[in-house]
Amino acid sequence: MKILLIGPQGSGKSTQGKLLAEYLKIPYISTGDIFRQIAQTDARIKQILDAGELVDDETTIKLINDRLTQADGFILDGFPRNLEQAEAINLNFDKVIYLNIPDEVVLKRLLKRGRTDDTEGSIKTRLDLYRAKTQPLLDYYKEQGVLVEVSGEADVRSVQDEIKKFI
Ligand code: AMP
Repeated sequence: MKILLIGPQGSGKSTQGKLLAEYLKIPYISTGDIFRQIAQTDARIKQILDAGELVDDETTIKLINDRLTQADGFILDGFPRNLEQAEAINLNFDKVIYLNIPDEVVLKRLLKRGRTDDTEGSIKTRLDLYRAKTQPLLDYYKEQGVLVEVSGEADVRSVQDEIKKFI
């Protein structure tokens, strides 16, 4: 089973992804987590993350090719982030789960989370990039017939129950 979680920052992708991974007994893989780890020893990547920008497609695609194309089941959070990435590596998702959530809830959640890249500037950059680059993927996966939409606003357990209905 190959599942992609898609949604703006703060929509609960990581919380929901980890729960679902446990339930389905497949790994949860977050490109953001991988890049945060790389950033500890790579100043270029750290600067990109701190600014809320996207890592270049070449680096990102290489990372996915190295770590993911052999795996036969996973929950993926963070890749693809744009159409170019989606077209570069076809991961053949069985389901793409879109966690939909209003902007004001996103902001409230992120300010509570307090990750080092959760400054006001980088939050705004990431939201703008999400709208411009990642949102077009929703139509792309809808056309492929694998997109399902879940509201990410309710409590963790209710959202998880909604997701499971589609699995
Ligand atoms: P996330 O934890 O998904 O919010 O990702 C944190 C940061 O990692 C993002 O702001 C990007 O700088 C970087 N990142 C994660 N996934 C990707 C990707 N697929 N393409 C480019 N940059 C990424």
